[in-house]
Amino acid sequence: MNLTAKIIDGKAMALDIRQKLAEKITSCCDKPYLAVILVGDDPASLVYDRNKQKAALSMGMKCDIYHLEKHTSEDELIKLIHKLNLDDHVNGILVQMPLPNHINPLHVIETIAHEKDVDGFGPYNAGLLHENDTRAMVAATPKGILYILEKELGNLTGKHAVIIGRSNIVGRPLASLLLNHNCTVTITHSKTVNLPKITRQADILIVACGCPKMVKKEWVKKGAVVIDVGINRVDGKLCGDVDFDDVKKQASLITPVPGGIGPMTIAMLLENTYTAYLNQKNKIKK
Ligand code: NAD
Repeated sequence: MNLTAKIIDGKAMALDIRQKLAEKITSCCDKPYLAVILVGDDPASLVYDRNKQKAALSMGMKCDIYHLEKHTSEDELIKLIHKLNLDDHVNGILVQMPLPNHINPLHVIETIAHEKDVDGFGPYNAGLLHENDTRAMVAATPKGILYILEKELGNLTGKHAVIIGRSNIVGRPLASLLLNHNCTVTITHSKTVNLPKITRQADILIVACGCPKMVKKEWVKKGAVVIDVGINRVDGKLCGDVDFDDVKKQASLITPVPGGIGPMTIAMLLENTYTAYLNQKNKIKK
């Protein structure tokens, strides 16, 4: 018999988080400030950054997009980051990826002061997360996924989580985060052999590989929770890495695309910016 999964409304959850955050920001003496750096004219990146800015401004934060032209050198970009690092008004710094090929993203990310690294991609925060240190600024997408899982399932101890994708922004930090919450974690990638055999073992299946509708019903254990991180555009329409209409017959819970992980990522980025703001205020007081 086919199940019909409960669809997780990431948009509503994100709105709730943002409203609570907006109330806290009203009582701040000054506004938390997020600086977003965009190099080049990638249309998708421009849309992502404008959405982040719109969300930040709507909650009473300050947010500027530093839009640099695509031939900007690595040195110029790093100089701007140093300037923002030293500016006490700036609480969070985010560099939109991907960067043009002539810029090494690792050099750029490691330049961001760790207390302003609201994406949590820098080696300091990634290291803290790896060591299960609660001071880590956790990357927004994994943090949003954890929020959903804990809200829907409660305690995650002992659950088998299978992750498809090992990127530094989703798969790897998510693996650490779920391990820190006592899941048994299997991380898979493009070189994994017999992927469906592994995904069928998952209580929680998280898919972040950028392959439109790759995961089918037969890849999923009956009653599993399926989290779709993918954002793909096919024939002008957005879709995830999971074949939603097929897999919802097999899963107990599923996130849609759009309206699932995307809005949660923005909400968590703003939460990280607020945390960075509080940490910096407290440091000044000490
Ligand atoms: P990436 O390209 O950096 O990494 C993709 C990963 O998937 C790699 O580890 C690769 O080994 C693996 N992979 C690729 N093809 C595979 C296959 N056929 N089978 C198994 N594994 C495979 O991508 P990313 O930055 O991690 O993003 C992944 C997807 O998630 C993209 O669609 C991206 O747009 C989306 N994304 C969404 C959000 C959000 O807020 N919803 C945030 C980040 C990324």
